Amino acid sequence: MGVRGWLKFLTEYDSPKYIRMQSVTWGFVKCLLYVTVALSVCCIVIIYRLYEETDEVNSSVRTNVKGVAYTNDRIWDTAEYTIPMQAVNSFFVMTNIIKTENQFEQRCPEYPFGKAICSSDKSCEKGSVNIHSHGIQTGRCVNYNATVKTCEVKAWCPVESMEKPPEPAVLRSSEDFTVLIKNNIYFPKFNYTILNVPANLNSSCTYNKITSPLCPIFRLGDILQEAKENFSEVAVKGGIIAIEINWDCNLDSFYDCNPKYGFRRLDDKKIQPGFHFRYARYYKLPNGKEQRTLFKVYGIRFDVLVFGTGRKFNGVELIKNIGSMISYFGLVATAIEIAICLCNCSRCSKSPFYKIYNRKKYETLLNPRQVMFVSYVDEPHVTLIKKPLKTSLQHAQGSIVESHPVKFYDAGSCCTSQSNENLDNEEYELGRPLRQGAFSPDCQKWCCCGNCQPTEKYHEQLCCRRTEGPCITTSHWFLQLVLSSHTLRKALLYEDPFLNLTDGNINNQLRHLAYKQYVHWRFGSFDLEDRAVIPSCCRWKIRDTYPKAGNDYTGFKME
Ligand code: ZN
Ligand code: ZN
Repeated sequence: MGVRGWLKFLTEYDSPKYIRMQSVTWGFVKCLLYVTVALSVCCIVIIYRLYEETDEVNSSVRTNVKGVAYTNDRIWDTAEYTIPMQAVNSFFVMTNIIKTENQFEQRCPEYPFGKAICSSDKSCEKGSVNIHSHGIQTGRCVNYNATVKTCEVKAWCPVESMEKPPEPAVLRSSEDFTVLIKNNIYFPKFNYTILNVPANLNSSCTYNKITSPLCPIFRLGDILQEAKENFSEVAVKGGIIAIEINWDCNLDSFYDCNPKYGFRRLDDKKIQPGFHFRYARYYKLPNGKEQRTLFKVYGIRFDVLVFGTGRKFNGVELIKNIGSMISYFGLVATAIEIAICLCNCSRCSKSPFYKIYNRKKYETLLNPRQVMFVSYVDEPHVTLIKKPLKTSLQHAQGSIVESHPVKFYDAGSCCTSQSNENLDNEEYELGRPLRQGAFSPDCQKWCCCGNCQPTEKYHEQLCCRRTEGPCITTSHWFLQLVLSSHTLRKALLYEDPFLNLTDGNINNQLRHLAYKQYVHWRFGSFDLEDRAVIPSCCRWKIRDTYPKAGNDYTGFKME
């Protein structure tokens, strides 16, 4: 695109053209759809709160477990049963324990599980380690007790017995322990911080879903109950429980920012439930030997999960969201277009309304190389003939097109009510295929007026009329409008006031202008003017009046 192209592009705007249909049905459908879309948009905005700006929560959690128990002749306080966890936002409460005391690093018989049981030294392989072993085999088979022999191992002895955890759980009374959860949250977008501990907290409160839903002190038994679990059952093998804190904060004038607590079990109840791990306490004896006590502890790990959203009304957000939904209104037009299309394909297409609609809506662009237009003096319309011609142009089949001659016919043959009726019919029947054999059989081959010149070329075999009768060249108007030297000269001077009319070449200009005059008269002005074919009789009459030196006429250009 050159500078001119860009300039044109910058100084122009193309506005789409619409077809307005006068139709109660479609008008009603349109209104209905617009109202539906408008209501849907409103509902979506309200339900999904699209008028608010949102921000995700940032949070930190601190926990504080309290409670003392007395079992197995031992006092269990916080330091005993809460073992620090590696995980973030988690705390652990021990509920059950298997203790193996006074272990030394030496040789002893392995615990009698399947592969460790032996009958002689041959069954034990020196240096081998099994996945369940407590140590490295020495290759000897020794007595575990009076009845069972097992392979000897180098390990922390005596080895831990692989028995099931005690039932009921040692620390089942930890059900009454409480935990205080402090949860700070922050919404960076709104620069807003809040703590889940109310300012006027009654420090002796305990969380209850109904009576005190905002109290941040939880009884462990209640947590398990809310998670629909039985504490004494879970206490045996342990488990993992999620404490969910959900903040849904409205920071507008209707201020509402309180946490909601939820509880559920995270480890699978059916497939290998429980949570346990081991740790040891080491001692150095006066003789320098190291001794340890091994603990296998079972307990409940509590994971505190914080999530939530802060919301605040924001006009820009509302406009942005509504803007993005305005495109839904475009769906209305698309839906109606599709419905009309379907209607067009079905039986409705026969109704005159849709015929006019189709004509107004779709403009067919013709390829000028493939068409010719002809007009007969005894027919009130222009006929479109498509190439290639297989017979004379006079006999070629074509279709009627809406064009100027309709108006011309209206003005020319004037004023009778009959012609008006014809006109109306014509309007509805435009585009129908032309009846074949409409020409008179009396016509000589293809000429009906008797003035046409014989020619071999199909596209030149065209007469001024379809039925036998007087030639148009003999009419008064042909002489006046097309042939009259006076009229043509006037028209030439009108275009170029200083034209030299005495010039020897003036005949060529007059002849071409006469062709043009004929086309305007009989076809009217339209896009493909140069595809209008002038009948042979007229063409030769014009040529004879304004001849060309040498008589080599170009004729109608086929390409
Ligand atoms: Zn003729
Ligand atoms: Zn003629």
